[in-house]
Amino acid sequence: MPDDHRRRHGFSTRMSHAGRAGVRIHGFVNPAVHRGSTVLFPDAASRMAAAAKRYDQHMTYGTQGGPTHYALEDVIAEIEGGSRCTIVGTGLAAVAVPLLAYLKAGDHCLMPDSVYGPARNLATGLMKGWGIETTFYDPCVDEAGMRALIRPNTKVVYTESPGSHTFEVQDIPAISRAAHAAGAKVMMDNTWGIHTFQPFAHGVDVSIQALTKYVGGHSDILLGSVTVNTEEDHVAVRSAASAMGHYASPDDCWLALRGVRTMAVRLKTQAAAALEIASWLEQQPQIQKVLHPALPSHPQHALFMRDFTGACSLFGIVLDARYSHEDMMRFVDGLSLFGIGASWGGYESLAIPTTGFITRSAGTGDFGGQTVRIHIGLEDVADLKADLAQGLHALG
Ligand SMILES: *Cc1c(COP(=O)(O)O)cnc(C)c1O
Repeated sequence: MPDDHRRRHGFSTRMSHAGRAGVRIHGFVNPAVHRGSTVLFPDAASRMAAAAKRYDQHMTYGTQGGPTHYALEDVIAEIEGGSRCTIVGTGLAAVAVPLLAYLKAGDHCLMPDSVYGPARNLATGLMKGWGIETTFYDPCVDEAGMRALIRPNTKVVYTESPGSHTFEVQDIPAISRAAHAAGAKVMMDNTWGIHTFQPFAHGVDVSIQALTKYVGGHSDILLGSVTVNTEEDHVAVRSAASAMGHYASPDDCWLALRGVRTMAVRLKTQAAAALEIASWLEQQPQIQKVLHPALPSHPQHALFMRDFTGACSLFGIVLDARYSHEDMMRFVDGLSLFGIGASWGGYESLAIPTTGFITRSAGTGDFGGQTVRIHIGLEDVADLKADLAQGLHALG
């Protein structure tokens, strides 16, 4: 979609129209699911010419993607405000691809202490084995602090804001300035901020999305995206994804395209419900703290207000210190409308114990109470509140 379109229209309008131009669909509103491995050419010369453009949404073989992938890539680039996007099979693959594209043996990587757990595992496991060193830093680091952390061999400063499970908001512009001054790339897992944080306007070079979450929106697909804003970064990411054989199912891409058309309205409803429930939870005597950046009580609320245009429907709660691990488990088991399970961004509410899943190595993230992560779906707020109220009541 041309840039002037981005400027002229609001988010909901753009989500209705993005990724639909140029798709040959015989008049139907939506693109088809194009499955395929072999791509045929009329003659040998056109096959040779096409291969040279393989990182350019050019169909040469199934692994380079096809029309369904490209339509989704265009929509995600539009949402993120970047120029080019590469779709991969999962959100975690979207984390791994750019890290491996930009890091090699002898390089140093910086990751926030609040990073998504499997990203930490990749850094401390495979990446370490390949001779890539990672330092975990306080997510609330300022510009001078980041400058002090950067070494001559630091090639990637990874960010995720707000942090997984604990919701610290990072000062992305300050971190980016320090990283760029040292020639390092800034990567961001922007899944939480899907349409309320514009990564490239805040200095990010590579933005990662787990499309599994709000883009899919129905807890029935796994997909990830890596979006960039320069041709050089696009070739780096696309060629790394291609070298490792990454691919996404066109059926899942089609479901993501379907999901994206209703994402603005789902997010608006879910975010409002989540904020109402988070504010209410904050008043309950069993709750020590609610970890939601849109609440004025959040330690980085001012930063959130400066850089984000809104929230999503995922937040954390910390129970009062008097409650034991068993109490917390009883609270979660006592909820009837909240499913107990991983992931988020679907239409259904979820609650999951996070105590024991918050790994830290930079001394951050001690909340002095049992923690639970809450995802608010599309159910009625009154019903969700009543369910949480009886769960809290059972805690005593
Ligand atoms: C879920 C998640 C991912 C990974 O997505 P999958 O599609 O489940 O692999 C990455 N980052 C964040 C912040 C997530 O919540």
